[in-house]
Amino acid sequence: MRIKGRSDFTELRGDKYDSCVMCGPQKYRVVIHFDSGSAEPAVGETITGATSADTGVVEFIQLTGGAYTDGNAVGVMVLDEPTGYDQYNLSIFTDDENLNGPTPGAGANFATVNGITGVNKSGRMHPDSNLITYNGVKYCKEHFRFRFKKEWEDEAKVDTSEKERGK
Ligand SMILES: [Zn+2]
Repeated sequence: MRIKGRSDFTELRGDKYDSCVMCGPQKYRVVIHFDSGSAEPAVGETITGATSADTGVVEFIQLTGGAYTDGNAVGVMVLDEPTGYDQYNLSIFTDDENLNGPTPGAGANFATVNGITGVNKSGRMHPDSNLITYNGVKYCKEHFRFRFKKEWEDEAKVDTSEKERGK
């Protein structure tokens, strides 16, 4: 038996991907289904998983059943800016995990995670071959042309003679 060397493996070719400053950054969002809700967090409050310590900022919350006053509120929460999640499988929080809100605010154990929760990534990504780094900022080719065309035209001292205009 021969130990495999570098030449025995197929090289992985392809582009790396990144975002364009004008197309916008990648957005990470989390949709949590919750139950046992006893208080409603306000938009902007940071929610923390009692055991995972994962966090997210409330962007939207919708009650779908039960009542907070009865401690059995059921609903859906959308969180922004998630932290602490698994980078590889994008899992965040755990089923039946208690959720803590700030005090003042929703407070400790204001609801319980119901089901598996994942981090959703959205936003346009470009292959390196379509990105141009200029002044330390990355642009997709289309936005690069759009952003700097005017500057280049001004610098080129446009010839406005009759001949140039086809007369
Ligand atoms: Zn772009």
